Amino acid sequence: MKTHQERMARKKEVIDARIAKATEERGVLILLKGNGKGKSSSAFGTMARAVGHGQRAAVVQFSKGRLETGEFKLFKDHPQIDWYVMGHGFTWETQDKERDIEAAEQAWAKAEQLLQDEQYDILIFDEMSYMFKYKYLELAPVLTALQARPEKQNVMITGRVMPEGLEEIADTISSIRDERHAFRLGVKAQEGIEY
Ligand code: ATP
Ligand code: MG
Repeated sequence: MKTHQERMARKKEVIDARIAKATEERGVLILLKGNGKGKSSSAFGTMARAVGHGQRAAVVQFSKGRLETGEFKLFKDHPQIDWYVMGHGFTWETQDKERDIEAAEQAWAKAEQLLQDEQYDILIFDEMSYMFKYKYLELAPVLTALQARPEKQNVMITGRVMPEGLEEIADTISSIRDERHAFRLGVKAQEGIEY
């Protein structure tokens, strides 16, 4: 039987070989999807990581919740972060499709501008996937802009269901599965956890 030390040495060899192979230096497109809790908070956590290293970040939120999130309150005035909330509320609240489309187009215009701006190291397009689901935005121009962005720019997109075209061009895709949620146990949404 192999000793612990032998197994660890073998593991290190495998990992070192993988590290030696990963030599490309470029920005990545990360998709955070699935029905489980943790997509937006993971994106904002990664943004905090980047900003901590002195990087510049921007957020475009594609659906304005009723409540301001803790992340928005914490980050909106940060000198390295620009935060745009563009929307007129959740669809099922406004029930005004024209207004929603207009808001989506405005948000996309801002996102497109950020995708051409080399001074941003990381961009978060929060809840963007719904724009395609509800057909508020066309996918093709979004794919084109993502592919033409500055080489070192990282982009994270969140939303429960991602369109296929977006998955095709993504570098990292994490799917967060809903195994259980306190809401279904009757626990009320709470500040600091849900928003
Ligand atoms: P978070 O913002 O906590 O990271 P998320 O971005 O993964 O969550 P969304 O689909 O954007 O989740 O939903 C936003 C809100 O709904 C959050 O308040 C979140 O806590 C809550 N939520 C997320 N998943 C579930 C679920 N499976 N059941 C009930 N509520 C959920
Ligand atoms: Mg979210």
